[in-house]
Amino acid sequence: MTVPFTTQSLQDALTAKLALNFGTEPGEATDQEMLKACALVLRDVMALRGVQTAKETKKEQKKQVHYLSLEFLMGRSLMKNAYNLGVLPELKEALGNLGFKSGDLFELEPDAGLGNGGLGRLAACYLDSMTTLDIPATGYSICYELGIFKQKIVEGQQVELPDDWKGVGSAWLLPKPDEAQAVHFGGTLREFWHDGHLHIVNENSTTVLAVPCDMVVAGYDTDHVNTLRLWDARSTRPVDMALFSRGEYLKASEDEAMAETIAKVLYPEDNHYEGKSLRLKQQYFFVSATVQSIVTKHLETYGTLKNFHEKNIIQINDTHPALVIPELMRIFMDEAGMNWDEAWDITSRSVAYTNHTVLSEALERWPQQLVETLLPRVWQIIQEIARRWQEKVENFFHDPSVTEKMAIVWGGEVRMANLCVAGGLSVNGVSGLHSEILKKDVFKNSYAMEPWKFTNVTNGIDHRRWLSEINPGLDGLVRDLAGGDDYLLHPQALKKLDAYADDSAVLKRLDEIKWQNKVKFADYARKAQGVTLDPNAIFDVQVKRLHEYKRQLLNVLHIITLYQQLQDDPNCITRPHTFLFGAKAAPGYAVAKRIIHLINSLADDISHDPRCRGKLQVVFLENYRVSLAEHLMPASEVSQQISTAGKEASGTGNMKFMMNGALTVGTLDGANVEMHDVLGDENMFLFGLHADQAATLKREGYVPQRYISHDPQMERCLNALRKGFRDGVSYEDLYQRLISQDEYLLLADYRAYCDAERRMAETYENRETWNRMSLHNIARSGIFAADRAVAEYADNIWDVPHR
Ligand SMILES: *Cc1c(COP(=O)(O)O)cnc(C)c1O
Repeated sequence: MTVPFTTQSLQDALTAKLALNFGTEPGEATDQEMLKACALVLRDVMALRGVQTAKETKKEQKKQVHYLSLEFLMGRSLMKNAYNLGVLPELKEALGNLGFKSGDLFELEPDAGLGNGGLGRLAACYLDSMTTLDIPATGYSICYELGIFKQKIVEGQQVELPDDWKGVGSAWLLPKPDEAQAVHFGGTLREFWHDGHLHIVNENSTTVLAVPCDMVVAGYDTDHVNTLRLWDARSTRPVDMALFSRGEYLKASEDEAMAETIAKVLYPEDNHYEGKSLRLKQQYFFVSATVQSIVTKHLETYGTLKNFHEKNIIQINDTHPALVIPELMRIFMDEAGMNWDEAWDITSRSVAYTNHTVLSEALERWPQQLVETLLPRVWQIIQEIARRWQEKVENFFHDPSVTEKMAIVWGGEVRMANLCVAGGLSVNGVSGLHSEILKKDVFKNSYAMEPWKFTNVTNGIDHRRWLSEINPGLDGLVRDLAGGDDYLLHPQALKKLDAYADDSAVLKRLDEIKWQNKVKFADYARKAQGVTLDPNAIFDVQVKRLHEYKRQLLNVLHIITLYQQLQDDPNCITRPHTFLFGAKAAPGYAVAKRIIHLINSLADDISHDPRCRGKLQVVFLENYRVSLAEHLMPASEVSQQISTAGKEASGTGNMKFMMNGALTVGTLDGANVEMHDVLGDENMFLFGLHADQAATLKREGYVPQRYISHDPQMERCLNALRKGFRDGVSYEDLYQRLISQDEYLLLADYRAYCDAERRMAETYENRETWNRMSLHNIARSGIFAADRAVAEYADNIWDVPHR
């Protein structure tokens, strides 16, 4: 790879950019101006390389990957891009020479928060790996004006504020108005025969213009760059409003109203389906613009669509982009004149589907009425796909109950997951356990009929960002032990650290790195929200979206128990223990918001109790997001991964912690199972029911009361919940929920969890043992690199070559 800048040439480029774009010079420029100048300078280099990459892809007629996701949780880009371009030290130096502090400047960049949590962050990590592995790939999403809301805690409760990220964030975006696509909604269908063919046209539709805003992404140690294409919505503004007849004038304002709302805001629900019509509009807007863009470029290169599946693969991140299937069919038939069979053959060889959840409330089922009114032609095609699929199912099973389960259209609803299974060439889960559950349970019948479609690709994370870039201390140690920077392209090289398990100097250094990171995070937390953290305390962390299945409440129950033990015996805690939480709740998810309130009530109570001073602390970190995770992961010591077994598809937070040397307290769920495979019982703190045991318990009638009556400590803890804390708020509602339903089996796992936390705290006192375990965690985290996951997609699903 060629390094594009020296310190001097970067300084010159920044100075020129400040003059050209902002009419200023380094001595006068504000931090915001300098930040934008940095983005523009790096964007220019990447855009130039993008032209070269596109040229090669076209000339060599390479197969392309199109990664479709309604969410891309990119976070910040400046440090990442400078890192990947190999100019991070030069950038820091240049900024210093021009009178700016690079650390402060990097901290000013807003997160591009175009996603909710794990699913959106996965898309971002994969885009980095696809680029680094030299795969010609494009990510597609919506250029939401407002990303995931900013969270403030006011009087213990979550308040949502709009996330207006584009002010500075748009410096990374390259608008491409010439590549805009028109997307049509509603209207009526007119059918007519011409030249022996039945033609179908959609009349009186509402039209929205989709304008690409491209974000160029650089890979590590390669000149190859890829693009994240974010669709912005604009109205097809009439040239001369005065000339418009009355009817057209009104329609023009309809178009405008739709255009103004469609890309306005990201839906903030994670792992939950809300059947809102605006969301369906977003999905179709996104899918139609993307498919048109892919088809247009394909035709420019090949002049035919007959080889579309040989040159394109469309990977869909959950069912949110499932409408690609009927949309491809529509374009192949209505615009390219193919017959059904040919169009279906090409479509079903082009689309691959990743499932992300088995929670029934997260499965998308659109009301047929809504689909029919909003997308009349797409609805016709879905009906025909459903009819043919049903015929196939009936001929295979001859069982009406199976027909019902596998139906695409049933009971007035369109079931998107079944559409994806029917129309996809591949269906994959995101961890070994999750993929097994898909085959044995969720898609059992489809698996019996078409077993070849089903596969697993365990999730991964961008280890360059989540280790090397954010944890320079640990990166230094790895380089010293594992042969320089080799691990950045070959994450399995981390394995070499295992050889130092009995090297007390190495273990000591690891301990020192963690200590420094804790001091640094304590400083950050003080500046960010005015809390005081004690670096001597165990940093015991649960950060992820707030969801009942993730069981933050179980963590709280244990903390209450510890607090009560401390009240009985002030000497029962010798090592200070700090519990850190970070979590956004979907604004409409009342129970999740109550749990946030509870965490804050408990934190407040404990902080005012002199008996807890220097012993027990609970902190709720506001506004959990990618950039906060980047500060926190290097400082974390305990990773809480305590979902009800069988419910977390994979988890990726678990991997970030492991890579930074935190030890996991967790259930055998999602990718924790694979962590356990490489670590063994001795290097993590496993507890609780297994997935099959949890399912059996639920099936055979779970009675939470039985657990309470055998465990006085649990009963006492639940009573405290009921009564509430210093602020006088009662949590009777959460108490009732636990004793009457306890859908996620918290009380069944409570005792085992308390025991696991006790084992963890005891182990913590043996520093040598702890540091050795930590070393093994880092050493064996290589399998969770996104490079491994993306290589598996490329080899087993996409059939594209890679570095
Ligand atoms: C990694 C990440 C997640 C996913 O965390 P899980 O523990 O796997 O649910 C969510 N949010 C952010 C900001 C992340 O970086």
